[in-house]
Amino acid sequence: MLLLIPGPVTTRPEVRAAMAQDFAPWDDSFGALYADVLTRLLAVAGGRPETHAMLALPGCGHFAVEAAVRSLVPPTGRVLVPLTGAYAVRMARLAREIGRDVVEMPVSPVLRVDPADVARALAADPGLTHVGLVYSETSSGVVHDATEIGAVARAAGRRVILDAVSAFGALPVDLGEQPEMDAVVFTANKCLEGVPGLAFVGLRRQAAEAGRGWAQSWSLDLCDILEHERDGRHGPRFTTPTHVVAALRAALSLLETEGGPAGRLARYRANAHALQTGLRAVGLVPYVDEPAQGPIVVNIRAPHDPAWSLPRFVDELKARGFVISNFYNTERPSFRVGCIGAITPDDMRRFAAAVDGALEAMGVRERAPLRD
Ligand SMILES: *Cc1c(COP(=O)(O)O)cnc(C)c1O
Repeated sequence: MLLLIPGPVTTRPEVRAAMAQDFAPWDDSFGALYADVLTRLLAVAGGRPETHAMLALPGCGHFAVEAAVRSLVPPTGRVLVPLTGAYAVRMARLAREIGRDVVEMPVSPVLRVDPADVARALAADPGLTHVGLVYSETSSGVVHDATEIGAVARAAGRRVILDAVSAFGALPVDLGEQPEMDAVVFTANKCLEGVPGLAFVGLRRQAAEAGRGWAQSWSLDLCDILEHERDGRHGPRFTTPTHVVAALRAALSLLETEGGPAGRLARYRANAHALQTGLRAVGLVPYVDEPAQGPIVVNIRAPHDPAWSLPRFVDELKARGFVISNFYNTERPSFRVGCIGAITPDDMRRFAAAVDGALEAMGVRERAPLRD
C-alpha cells in the first residue's frame, strides 16, 4: 500500500528497520545519535551553529508552530498572516488563542502571495512585528516565495516565522542567508521521509534568548529547551520518541544519498509532473494552474458526474493499493494527492491507471469538473 498523502508519507524499508531496537533517551550512545540528527538538520536548514540552534519537540507539527509563536513573538507583538489556506488559518488561530495580535491578509487560494502586497501591509501597520508564512500550503498545493517575502520583511525590519512543515527537506531553506527568519518549523514525517512523532524548530539563538518568559507555557517554551540542551550534557528536555529519532537518522542518510534537498525536489517535481500528465490523460483537471502549483501536493477537481463520491473513490483506490486523503481541502470539491515520500514517477503512472479504473468502476462518465 502506498500513501499518497502529504504526511505521514510512505517510508523506505531502511527507515522502518532503524526502529527495530530500543534506546534509553539519556544513554550516551543515544545522546550521540540525537545530537547527530540535530546537527545534520541544522545544516539542511542552512543554520550556523554560532548563531542558530535546532530544537526538537515531541509531537506533531502544530505543537512546534505554537511553540515558535509563543516563544518568539512578544506578548505585545502583532503577526501578519497571509491567509494562503487551511494551514495559515490554523497559524492565525493558534496565535490569537495565545493572545497575540493577528492581522490576516487575504490571498487567493490558487495564487502565490505577491511579496509587494506583504510590503504594503507591513508599511501600512508599523505595529506588525512578525510575518507568519506557510511556505508550502498543504491544502492548496501552492508553494509561496519564502525568499522574496523574507526579503520584504527584512527590508521593513520585521521578523519571520516560517511554517515549512510540508516543505523542509525538499524546498530550499537557508537560515544563514535569511537573517530575518527567527524560526523555521518542520516535522520528521513529510519531505524528510521519516516517521511521525517529532517536530523541529530551527531558530536564531538571539531570538530565543530575547523571548525568555514570553511563552507562558512550560512545555512549549523554546527558550527553556534551548537553555536545557545548550551544553549537551542533559540530553533531551522531554522523553523523546527514540525510535522516531533513529528512523530519522536513517532517513537523513537517504536524503544525503539522493543529493540533499535539491535532489529530492527534482524527484518530487518529476512525481508531480507524471501525476498531472497521467490524470489529464484520463480526462481530469488540476485545481491549481502553473506556475503556482507546487511539487508537494496536487489537488484534482472532482468530476461533475452524479456517480462521483469521494469516500467511494478513496475506497476504490485503496483496493488498488493507494491511499489518498478522504476529505475535501478546497472550496470547490477536489481530491488531494501527495507527491512526497518514498515514491517515484512510475508509482504516479500506476496511480493514474488506478484512478482510471476506480472511476470506471464507479460509473463516472463525465470527468471534467463543474464549469465555473
Ligand atoms: C502537516 C502540516 C502541519 C502540521 O500538521 P500536524 O498534523 O500538526 O503535524 C503544519 N503546517 C503545514 C503546512 C503542514 O503541511
